[in-house]
Amino acid sequence: MTATTTSAIPPVLETRDLHCTFQVRQGMFKPKKPLHAVNGVSLKVNKGDVLGLVGESGCGKSTFARILLGLQAPTSGDVRIDGQATTAFTRKQIARRIQPIFQDPYSSLNPRKTIGTIITLPLSVHGVGDPSEWRGKVERMMDLCGLPKRVYDSYPNQLSGGQRQRVAIARALVMQPEVVICDEPTSALDVSVQSQILNLLQDLRGELGLTYVLISHNLAVVEHMATSVAVMYLGRIVEQSDTDTLFRAPKHPYTEALLASVLTPEPGKGVPDAQLGATFPNPINPPSGCTFHTRCPKVMDVCRQVAPRPLSVDGSSVECHLHDAQRNAA
Ligand code: SF4
Repeated sequence: MTATTTSAIPPVLETRDLHCTFQVRQGMFKPKKPLHAVNGVSLKVNKGDVLGLVGESGCGKSTFARILLGLQAPTSGDVRIDGQATTAFTRKQIARRIQPIFQDPYSSLNPRKTIGTIITLPLSVHGVGDPSEWRGKVERMMDLCGLPKRVYDSYPNQLSGGQRQRVAIARALVMQPEVVICDEPTSALDVSVQSQILNLLQDLRGELGLTYVLISHNLAVVEHMATSVAVMYLGRIVEQSDTDTLFRAPKHPYTEALLASVLTPEPGKGVPDAQLGATFPNPINPPSGCTFHTRCPKVMDVCRQVAPRPLSVDGSSVECHLHDAQRNAA
């Protein structure tokens, strides 16, 4: 993912100034107010890349994912697949090209269907290929996902959590989508199987030429998997860059605080201070100026009045007045 790639090949996935606003009532007799869940998000993901999307709960990650999957219409802006706006596609056509893997493999699998039926369902719904070939296709995908053939006739409750997530992955990949939205793909799993699933996703990416959008609050997972990272706060991308740059030299105070909040294995260090004193603001009444100013340890007067705009700083795109000197010098 880059904000400024100028390749002749269009990015496999791109959003342009994407907005999604909900009208929300806070009390029975109060008027509705706008909630800007996604507020001007422009991102590009090139084929084979993994875009990590990080941010706290309520920052807009899930709404963004639903828009990419065609489950939620944006208020304005574009989603493009291979350069084509998805408004030209039906929901089914989007599903052929973008598939999700959700957090909880148990609730996302129908408990009354066998594993074989669950993985075959996308092929039958979309009428992909010859039905006589479906079983072979499904068994090949099961094999790629590390599922033994014998579980074809089993039910989800007969499988372990890790196996169920392998089923969810096989179901997502059986139609050979170009992009997979991985929404917290390991957070509901035991720690012991998390790395197996992450390694499987990495292997499948290489083998099938997949592109991932990885939504996670787990920065260690993002650092391990992602080729680039976008940090979201109250519906906006406040920093984006390649993974190494973001983890080595974060430029937005929110990114710095997120990285500081990661537990380290050093004995005696305890739980680190995330430096985010105030609680997450109410998105219906976001703070003026920079929406992070109520929690920012580096807040300045200008931050309370003026919303920062994206600026390119040493290979990163960042929205923060701390870098205004570079903007003025440019
Ligand atoms: Fe902090 Fe100001 Fe930068 Fe916002 S613009 S992150 S308040 S320094």
